[in-house]
Amino acid sequence: MSQLVVILGDHLNTKISSLANFNKETDKVLMSEVKEEATYVKHHKKKIVFVFSAMRHFSNELQNHGFATIYVKYDAADNHGCLFEQVKYTCSLHTFKSITIMHPGEYRLLEEVMTWESKLNITVNITPDNRFIATQTFFSDWADGRKQYRMEFFYREMRKQTNVLMDDKQPMGGKWNYDADNRKPFGKNPDIPSRTLLAPDAITNEVLTLVETQFSDHFGELSNFAFATTREGALGVLSEFIKIRLVDYGQYQDAMLEGNPWLFHSHIGLYLNTGLLMPYEVIQAAEEAFLNGHVPINSAEGFIRQILGWREYVRGFYWYFMPSLKENNYLEAKRALPDFYWTGKTRMNCLSQCVNDTKEHAYAHHIQRLMVLGNFALLTGIEPKAINEWYLVVYADAYEWVELPNVSSMVLFADAGNLASKPYAASGSYINKMSNYCKSCDYSVKEKTGTQACPFNYLYWHFLHRHQDKLRSNPRMGMIYSTMSKMDQTKFNHMLDDADTFLLKLENNEEI
Ligand SMILES: Cc1cc2nc3c(=O)[nH]c(=O)nc-3n(C[C@H](O)[C@H](O)[C@H](O)COP(=O)(O)OP(=O)(O)OC[C@H]3O[C@@H](n4cnc5c(N)ncnc54)[C@H](O)[C@@H]3O)c2cc1C
Ligand code: SF4
Repeated sequence: MSQLVVILGDHLNTKISSLANFNKETDKVLMSEVKEEATYVKHHKKKIVFVFSAMRHFSNELQNHGFATIYVKYDAADNHGCLFEQVKYTCSLHTFKSITIMHPGEYRLLEEVMTWESKLNITVNITPDNRFIATQTFFSDWADGRKQYRMEFFYREMRKQTNVLMDDKQPMGGKWNYDADNRKPFGKNPDIPSRTLLAPDAITNEVLTLVETQFSDHFGELSNFAFATTREGALGVLSEFIKIRLVDYGQYQDAMLEGNPWLFHSHIGLYLNTGLLMPYEVIQAAEEAFLNGHVPINSAEGFIRQILGWREYVRGFYWYFMPSLKENNYLEAKRALPDFYWTGKTRMNCLSQCVNDTKEHAYAHHIQRLMVLGNFALLTGIEPKAINEWYLVVYADAYEWVELPNVSSMVLFADAGNLASKPYAASGSYINKMSNYCKSCDYSVKEKTGTQACPFNYLYWHFLHRHQDKLRSNPRMGMIYSTMSKMDQTKFNHMLDDADTFLLKLENNEEI
């Protein structure tokens, strides 16, 4: 009697906990390109190519290491279209004592897996998700009883637990966080290294053809696919980042540049989220680069914080607050998602650039996601479900456990401040400071009112004005509300009128 180990498309590492007790003499692995998972939202075409190709490569790797593997391709005659039916069918062909599966990353899938035992009348073992450093219990022990859940304090605990960038019990360099040295915009003609490009091999080419024919109505472009699809390739991307870009990661972390979303970022989110890379090895590589004197502390710490801090924190946060996290809508946002989020057709250059980067690459960096695309959704009050679905569709690294806290809690302030101490709302001047988008925009970032004025400028004040009952008492918003109360009333009312006109145009799907 043997066990069936079910491996999901984001669990692609031989070190996953479900393989720990695999008996190569008796057990089998099942991997399947499931239609239900590929289409429950219309994922970006490049994301589907990446996941299917990485799965196929991983299944070959398993077989080469002696793991008996049943692999069901998307267009195979015996593909049953949904995970449960595929497992049921496989169980009908073989005799298994039990099923083992690593804890799925998403709540929806965990609920589904938890029904298998009774439906199939077989023992189902759910092993811990070891693609993360912190366990869910570690997060809930930290979070229980707190009034506020701030990433910064969780991150310090993680530093102490892992001894990363620590000098005995103190943070290396004397500070936990070096953001004060970061957040610089680019000067004129910045010298930006190119990202690592990997040419598709035969397996990826086969998947590209499949996606072109079967997913033609999905968002995004397929051309110039250059992601790694193996662990070896992902390690290569990481190594090039550490050698070439990490040195400037800190200072340019928040900068944006027309026509280039990659900049000094690592581009490894999709590999971490599918298991091709494990978080601790990434952190160790960055820490080593600092200890060897190859990169400054502001870059090493800034990068490590994203993974040891933010990534671990949002994952803990997701499981701690699900399922209610999905229903939050503190600011009662109701607006439908404007078409330009799909087409990129808008005269607002920053939005058009960020949507087009996303369409082309299934990638935009953090500040594009937060302070341009997210900021617009926050200021105009786009309904959480619609904008969450958009973010889940469009990025190659998007999975609900990481997308939902970032979008609902960070961008939309939909949980009334559990995650963020205040809304990440900004006027056009922030975008102008951190990017060169405004230089070639139809609108003028310097103007506050009138048809030429940058819409972010009046939308910002409209947002603060319409939510003052909910936001004014926030201690971090006191200064801005005090500025608002001192503003010239005629000018202020003019901005509110301009915002109303703009929002009406948006409602009528007119070009903005
Ligand atoms: C609205 C919004 C939606 C987002 N959706 C996703 C998503 O679906 N999937 C996703 O992995 N990240 C998401 N992020 C976080 C972040 O933007 C991406 O992880 C990052 O842009 C990926 O590119 P990179 O690998 O070059 O990141 P880098 O800037 O090089 O950062 C390194 C790594 O740190 C981690 N990281 C950084 N910021 C965060 C964060 N806020 N939350 C979790 N991990 C973080 C990621 O694993 C990332 O790969 C979102 C952020 C926002 C504001
Ligand atoms: S002027 Fe306003 S809309 Fe245009 S790019 Fe700048 S911030 Fe964006």
